[in-house]
Amino acid sequence: MRPLAEMPKDALRQIDFIFCDIDETLTNNGRLRARAYAALEAAASAGLCLVPVTGRPAGWCDLIVRQWPVAAVIGENGAFSFRHDPQGGLIRDYWQADAVRRENSERLRAIAHAICAKVPGAAIAADQSYRDADFAIDYAEDIAALPPARVAEIIAAFQAAGANAQMSSAHVNAWFGDYDKLATSRRLLARAFGLDFNAVQPRLAYLGDAPNDAPMFEAFANSIGVANVRRFVARLPLPPAYVTVGEGGEGFAEFVALLLAARS
Ligand SMILES: [Mg+2]
Repeated sequence: MRPLAEMPKDALRQIDFIFCDIDETLTNNGRLRARAYAALEAAASAGLCLVPVTGRPAGWCDLIVRQWPVAAVIGENGAFSFRHDPQGGLIRDYWQADAVRRENSERLRAIAHAICAKVPGAAIAADQSYRDADFAIDYAEDIAALPPARVAEIIAAFQAAGANAQMSSAHVNAWFGDYDKLATSRRLLARAFGLDFNAVQPRLAYLGDAPNDAPMFEAFANSIGVANVRRFVARLPLPPAYVTVGEGGEGFAEFVALLLAARS
């Protein structure tokens, strides 16, 4: 990882889509602070397309796409994207058909409850009832943080049951299906903007902090970790190209300031 300050101005100038994780990338200790929200607004006002890409539930994403200055949102680690329909209302683009999603959700519920009964301290995430597709087990949000070995046990148990499992800064998320944050980002770019992900690489940037950002760090040429990514770097197959000085939303604001300065 190179310091963000070393990112070439020419590369910054070409970026017009910012994809970013939310938890501990836009937030600090769970809070969206003024500096990070101001950076979102400044980027949107400058004509940049913002797309938060999160493990958070559909219920949160409905609010985010309606209330924040963003072009779209991808939630539940790629289970869907939400965006505004020019005809009015929202376009909710789910990766899986409703019946498949509901069936998978029921299978995951049984697996997750069995895991919580087996792994001491693990609990169903408090935002589970707002989810449409995946299942989340809390390891550090509303409970005392579990040691890494317990988190690894939760991930292994989901995988043994045939599910995908990945950790964010607070939850282990599990899902059935051949999607992730990256697959749905590619689909959103194609369907909403008519763009091919590979062809427009220089126009894209991604910011994240945790192992569930790994597919994005690998695929985006302009990949940036906020400073707190360092605590997960050993768990990443490929670290981001650049790293900010500030943690969470401070790091995000640092990137936006650099980008806007390069454009002016
Ligand atoms: Mg995160």
